[in-house]
Amino acid sequence: MRSNSRYYPNASVIPAAGIAFAAGLESRTNMRRREFLAAGFAAIGVTSGCATRKLPVAAGPPPPTSRSPLPNLALPRISWDRVIRTTIGLRPHRDSGFVLRPEKFDGKTVIHNYGFGGAGMSLAWGCGLMAAEMALERGMPAGGVRRAAVLGCGSPGLTAARQLQRRGFQVTIYAASIPPNTTSNMSLAGFTPTAGLVEPGRRTPAWDAQFRRAAELSYAELQLLAGAPGYGVYWIDSYNATDDPQAPQTRGTGGIPGNDLLPSHLNPGRGREIFGPGEHPFPARYAVRTAALAIEPSIYLEALVRDFILFGGKIVIRTFDTPRDLMLLAEPVLINCTGLGSKTLFNDQELVPVRGQLTHCIPQPEVRYRASGRMPDSNVNAGINPRSDGLCIGNMAERGNWSLEPNEEVRRQNVEAAMQFFGRMRPPSGPVTPPPAMSGRSVPGLESFYGVES
Ligand SMILES: Cc1cc2nc3c(=O)[nH]c(=O)nc-3n(C[C@H](O)[C@H](O)[C@H](O)COP(=O)(O)OP(=O)(O)OC[C@H]3O[C@@H](n4cnc5c(N)ncnc54)[C@H](O)[C@@H]3O)c2cc1C
Repeated sequence: MRSNSRYYPNASVIPAAGIAFAAGLESRTNMRRREFLAAGFAAIGVTSGCATRKLPVAAGPPPPTSRSPLPNLALPRISWDRVIRTTIGLRPHRDSGFVLRPEKFDGKTVIHNYGFGGAGMSLAWGCGLMAAEMALERGMPAGGVRRAAVLGCGSPGLTAARQLQRRGFQVTIYAASIPPNTTSNMSLAGFTPTAGLVEPGRRTPAWDAQFRRAAELSYAELQLLAGAPGYGVYWIDSYNATDDPQAPQTRGTGGIPGNDLLPSHLNPGRGREIFGPGEHPFPARYAVRTAALAIEPSIYLEALVRDFILFGGKIVIRTFDTPRDLMLLAEPVLINCTGLGSKTLFNDQELVPVRGQLTHCIPQPEVRYRASGRMPDSNVNAGINPRSDGLCIGNMAERGNWSLEPNEEVRRQNVEAAMQFFGRMRPPSGPVTPPPAMSGRSVPGLESFYGVES
């Protein structure tokens, strides 16, 4: 499968839809990758949250797999009259990756926790825990009450606040906006821990260690929430339709050849199932099935707000212009989760927006799988991500654009690619069946989500 970038030779906007293998190994694609990386965003073939899958697999015929049967899959209904909205979000990207460190401001400690690019829904619990540990080291008046402020009310802010509460802190969140009006609400959002996160040349061993711990902690936390009522976190089957399931991939690389976020002893191909010609309904020779961990932002963020309030938290709507404003707060420890806001608030000039765009069709509860692919004559990936608030299609990654206006051309390309691809899908041969319970299948290792783009 090809990378979108190949078809947008001069583009800083890369439309993409759904789940796609990011090829990136054809020479032209490599060339475009370099151009894109030169533009500074460490992802290519960026797709809708769940899934640019990059599996480094050996050459040769597909290995035999012990597969659970493919259920009858409902056909997605994608047409212009079913499109209900297009949303825009600005991913807070830093070439050197997220910032997680304390800084002293007069009498206060500010613990920075921001800059998660396309991985802010995935890494938040882990980074929040580490931020809370730093707060514990610094925010402990002898025999006094533990108090902390969290700046920002997106996924990083809310999870940091919950981690502080779990450690006995009284917490107030101060934020200019709260769900549903945060970037986190505009996320797709899959478990994509390396997506658009860091430039390989900018990593340091210390950052890598923080990243790996954050990924492990977050994965464990999200697994506990998966299936719990009211959180909007669940496992879902994800199909990538492709003519070449053995194409060399770059999984485990953070989307970047030569990158090695994935420890070498881990096996990235675990749990991958390949269905051959005639064994699946998609208009491609093969379908590769993996298990994806999905988050529904609107449900999830509301649930986090609810829990935060339930455990005694307070939310204050306030905008801060300079660090001086923060000195007026009563709390001795402040966790800075302001995302792109840190560009002006803390003068972090490395922060850059990477604009994303999702288009939603009327929800289809009977569609209980993610899928992506591309018609041979098309230059845009098609993909679907079913959520209770819409059947989500499309995405894009546009570095440096602060506009919150939809890009009509990208929207048109994504919707048309999805109509074309899923319009060629074979109808189910019998009643649509729910996917097999995850209990009958292996839970993927953390490493199998490395390289998944959002
Ligand atoms: C289209 C799209 C798809 C994505 N898909 C995925 C995915 O699949 N998986 C994934 O993990 N991530 C995904 N992401 C990335 C994820 O959404 C972000 O990394 C995450 O939302 C960033 O959170 P944040 O806290 O930095 O920003 P926000 O959610 O915007 O929160 C920032 C908070 O800080 C507050 N704030 C900012 N400045 C100030 C100030 N000066 N004073 C007071 N308050 C302030 C804001 O009001 C807000 O409350 C996606 C993003 C987009 C746009």
